[in-house]
Amino acid sequence: MNLDKHSRTIPLHCPTCAGTKFESESPESYSVTCTGCERVITREDLHRENEENIQAHLGEIKKEISKAVADDLRKRLQKAFKGSKGFKLK
Ligand SMILES: [Zn+2]
Repeated sequence: MNLDKHSRTIPLHCPTCAGTKFESESPESYSVTCTGCERVITREDLHRENEENIQAHLGEIKKEISKAVADDLRKRLQKAFKGSKGFKLK
């Protein structure tokens, strides 16, 4: 079962202008610069500002995955019981 399709990039929003594009000198740099309003914000602060947004996305992903797991299980069961009489799964 492949769960890769459920991974996604959660867009982080600039607390000042709600822009989603940021620039940084390197992926390890401590802070990033919003390309919309040029506000410099630390990654930590950016994540804190987006906490609600991140949690909402995680909730969505969890829902999708549990649905995918349930679907997968149902398919496996249908396969396993295929051909056996008197056992039907809807
Ligand atoms: Zn901004």
